[in-house]
Amino acid sequence: MPLTAGVIRRLDETVVNRIAAGEVIQRPANAIKEMIENCLDAKSTNIQVTVKDGGMKLIQIQDNGCGIRKEDMDIVCERFTTSKLQSFEDLSSISTYGFRGEALASISHVAHVTITTKTADGKCAYRANYSDGKLKGPPKPCAGNQGTQITVEDLFYNVSTRRKALKSPSEEHARIVEVVSRYAIHNSGIAFSVKKQGETMADVRTLSNATTVDNIRSTFGNAVSRELIEVGCEDPKLAFKIKGYVTNANYSMKKCIFLLFINARLVESSSLKKAIETVYAAYLPKNTHPFLYLSLDIVPQNVDVNVHPTKHEVHFLHEDSIIEKVQQHIESKLLGSNSSRLYFTQTLLPGASISASEVTKPASGSSSASQKSGDKVYAHQMIRTDSREQKLDAFLQLVSRSQPPTSLQCQPSKAEEQNCPKGSTLERVSDVELLEVLETTSSREDNGTERKETVSSTSIRRKRPHADSDVEMIEDESDNNMTAASTPRRRIINLTSIQILRKETEERAHKNLQDMLRNHSFVGCVSPQWALVQYQTKLYLLNTTKLSQELFYQILIFDFGNFGIMRLSEYAPLYDLAMLALDTPDSGWTEEDGPKEGLAEYIVQFLQKKAEMLRDYFSLEIDEKGNLTGLPLLIDNYIPPLEGLPMFILRLATEVNWDDEKECFESFSKECSMFYSIRKQYILQEHATEDSELGSASWRWTTEHILYKAFRTHLLPPNPFAEDGSILQLANLPDLYKVFERC
Ligand code: ADP
Ligand code: MG
Repeated sequence: MPLTAGVIRRLDETVVNRIAAGEVIQRPANAIKEMIENCLDAKSTNIQVTVKDGGMKLIQIQDNGCGIRKEDMDIVCERFTTSKLQSFEDLSSISTYGFRGEALASISHVAHVTITTKTADGKCAYRANYSDGKLKGPPKPCAGNQGTQITVEDLFYNVSTRRKALKSPSEEHARIVEVVSRYAIHNSGIAFSVKKQGETMADVRTLSNATTVDNIRSTFGNAVSRELIEVGCEDPKLAFKIKGYVTNANYSMKKCIFLLFINARLVESSSLKKAIETVYAAYLPKNTHPFLYLSLDIVPQNVDVNVHPTKHEVHFLHEDSIIEKVQQHIESKLLGSNSSRLYFTQTLLPGASISASEVTKPASGSSSASQKSGDKVYAHQMIRTDSREQKLDAFLQLVSRSQPPTSLQCQPSKAEEQNCPKGSTLERVSDVELLEVLETTSSREDNGTERKETVSSTSIRRKRPHADSDVEMIEDESDNNMTAASTPRRRIINLTSIQILRKETEERAHKNLQDMLRNHSFVGCVSPQWALVQYQTKLYLLNTTKLSQELFYQILIFDFGNFGIMRLSEYAPLYDLAMLALDTPDSGWTEEDGPKEGLAEYIVQFLQKKAEMLRDYFSLEIDEKGNLTGLPLLIDNYIPPLEGLPMFILRLATEVNWDDEKECFESFSKECSMFYSIRKQYILQEHATEDSELGSASWRWTTEHILYKAFRTHLLPPNPFAEDGSILQLANLPDLYKVFERC
């Protein structure tokens, strides 16, 4: 066959445009990112995204920004039309997101675009359709609020290669949710929502009055948001400023989550990521990673934004030096938050005085301050540099020191907790887990579907029927439409009673003791009730029972209305529980009280009347048949000593003051925290089901890794603990050294 040269033809312009558009807009999430940036540029305070089939069928973005003038409507979708840039020089001082007038044009080349918009001084709204960058007909007047709604239908209908390169609708949807939630976190003060068309329940919703941490919490869950350290530094010489939140050294997960904004644009920087991960590598367990949210501002002149059509890749001047500064800053913050690893100082110790005003610095501040002071460190002041090195357990020869309880199921909700084995009697669904559904819809390899079902049924069961004005919902309240993909809803509780209880708890806090708890290093358990910890150069004996009871009380008050649920795999009839309790001498039952059966019956009926409220506020679930079906999940992987359950139920009916709102919440929380606290019986319960050695290993594990870890971050120790024997100082180590020296 003769070889004939191919004829070179000029490509049709529309084809060229389409190809170019596909470079800018590679998937629905890119289009949404561009359009969100436009909404932000238009000074919107409320941005609502609705999508169908992962954005492939429909993307609709509604904002309340400045709108587009009617005169501009015919050219908005043409290439290189923008209201934000006039000359090439402007590129170097750009502070708005969009700058090349390319986004809308690109989108209109690969999808059907409709814009409805109204400016503040416009008499009415106008609607127009676009295709291939051109207006399809004159804008038509219509009704509408100020702002812009852009509808993008059938994305890539004319570019089959792009369409084929897309992942499944659920994966594309997950990417969309990711982009929207990241912008929501970065733009606290602006309300965002993203939902599937036809559903009332949003996948992400943030409120305009929520803080950055609130937004991180509602997107990534409590487990992350509890462990955040605020970071922030700047360097005028390098002309940069960075701020954000990163997780401390006590938290880690399987995959690094890195939200990076440079000059308010969501970007990726593998060099920065790598540099920060190197810092964490020294502190986190192997193969685990941090959560990072950083917002970096660099003088626009130093940023080269015009690198890639998708604008993901951003390079900047002095990149290496800036990265090094950020590294150093994060490292110093990590050390500050985790000063249990360094013991260089000998300051006034807790317990010495109850005066709360004496030490007001937070723990992190105090430790970094002491490091900075640069005082000479004497050998006798250096105690241990790593609290993990030697603990009491090392001398006790336990089978396995780091085994979590195995007799009860604690379903890990986060990747980092996957070392926790599964059991069989309790099923838990936490807020965090609800969140993970986001991932399940896309790429979870584990039991995704199973989990999805649990979650959706839980969502429905957690219906909150009386969302009165004191309780704000973060998400829509239409439960019929709740889906697996819905994210957890953190309710903001405005009940005065709860706010007073929170304030009272905060006012009771003993600052010195709190410092000690924050920075202690765990030495070992003496019994389920007592444990030893070291703080600076002193050794303390702590009443774990009392501290844990206080911890659970505080969690009940501070997380009020926002608990996950531990569902009982076998429902426990309240009647049987009440009878069990009445049979014990502790109940104080006498014949004068009447037959036990009648009392038990009364207790069941009484608690059933309270079921709605208990479920709503405390995640304590009682079904119509009078069974206890779920208990509040107060901390991950902690199961209360269940033999205390009958007494708890009995006391709910007899000891809680149900008449006064504040007293009701307070006394309920007291009873509940008593039930949850770790007690002598904890060990008995585990002995009954496990072989004794493992049983004791698991309460030890729970005490150290769950309770004391939580004391560090969550407990505000009340003043009386300094005097009532809950916290006792046993020894001052320098004195002990002197004793040893003499021996
Ligand atoms: P750029 O953002 O680079 O200017 P775009 O193609 O993204 O280019 O948008 C073109 C123009 O359309 C913008 O400059 C702006 O004037 C207008 N525009 C787009 N979206 C909105 C919106 N949501 N509100 C107000 N104006 C908008
Ligand atoms: Mg733009």
